[in-house]
Amino acid sequence: MSGAADQGSPARHPKPNHDRSAVRVLVLGGTTEASTLVTRLAGETDFAVTLSLAGRTAAPRPEPVPMRVGGFGGADGLARWIAENGIRAVIDATHPFAARISANAAAACRAGGVPLLAVRRPAWERQPGDDWSEVQDVPACVAALGPAPRRVFLTIGRQEVSAFARAPQHAYIVRTIEPVGDALPVPNLVAVSARGPFTLEDEIRLMREADIEVLVTKNSGGGATYPKIEAARRLGLPVVIVARPALPEVAAVPDAAGALLWLKSSLLGQRLD
Ligand code: NAP
Repeated sequence: MSGAADQGSPARHPKPNHDRSAVRVLVLGGTTEASTLVTRLAGETDFAVTLSLAGRTAAPRPEPVPMRVGGFGGADGLARWIAENGIRAVIDATHPFAARISANAAAACRAGGVPLLAVRRPAWERQPGDDWSEVQDVPACVAALGPAPRRVFLTIGRQEVSAFARAPQHAYIVRTIEPVGDALPVPNLVAVSARGPFTLEDEIRLMREADIEVLVTKNSGGGATYPKIEAARRLGLPVVIVARPALPEVAAVPDAAGALLWLKSSLLGQRLD
């Protein structure tokens, strides 16, 4: 069942190249880091990996490990799933703004005594020439745009885009992976469906052609979507940027390579050097 999405039902682990002693690992995904990690783990016969996705994208890209899709039913549901599936370690490789699932993972692993590692990509740092207004959440972005009409490049994902319905005076270019639909009913809106990575040249062209006056983004970190930040700097545009939410204090590494090393050292007893 390599690459098959198992909708909501208990995951199966019939990995053809895994014997019964393979260590079962749950990777909570939805990010580039999770994809990179499961691709690396798929070639390791010591591990039997299940990738879990929330199900936000209609057609997630195929992955070389078994997948399950959909919520677990809170921390208790996740703890149950971990126990029922003999999971020996959990890797929380969710997006840095996916705070609820990270809190659930911390609670579930603590309750079950299961080792947990978070993959947390570093936040973007303000560079010389950046004109950032940092805000705490998406509703605060709306206020930060002010009352006067502006041309806004909105790149905060689809889930919270409806908050901007309170500010219909602005013109929005909204870029999301999944179509935004009618979530933002404002008179002046252009919706763009695209998945990164994006190049600096493309970002500069888009912002110039659309006469963008301000960029609104989350501080997601990582390289795939950083060019928009660089483009805003080059064009002298202000950026309204949502700061990272509070996340549980758990062991963390910045990338998939760190997670692979951690799995090998903590579960297989291999040396880290
Ligand atoms: P969230 O607010 O932390 O999670 C909401 C609920 O969705 C969770 O309580 C859980 O439901 C379910 N869920 C989230 N991630 C899951 C996973 N990997 N596997 C199974 N269930 C999951 O997260 P979110 O902001 O909705 O993000 C959902 C997914 O999109 C995550 O996988 C995240 O990595 C990805 N993503 C998020 C953003 C963002 O800006 N938030 C950006 C890019 C990608 P139950 O409580 O029922 O278990």
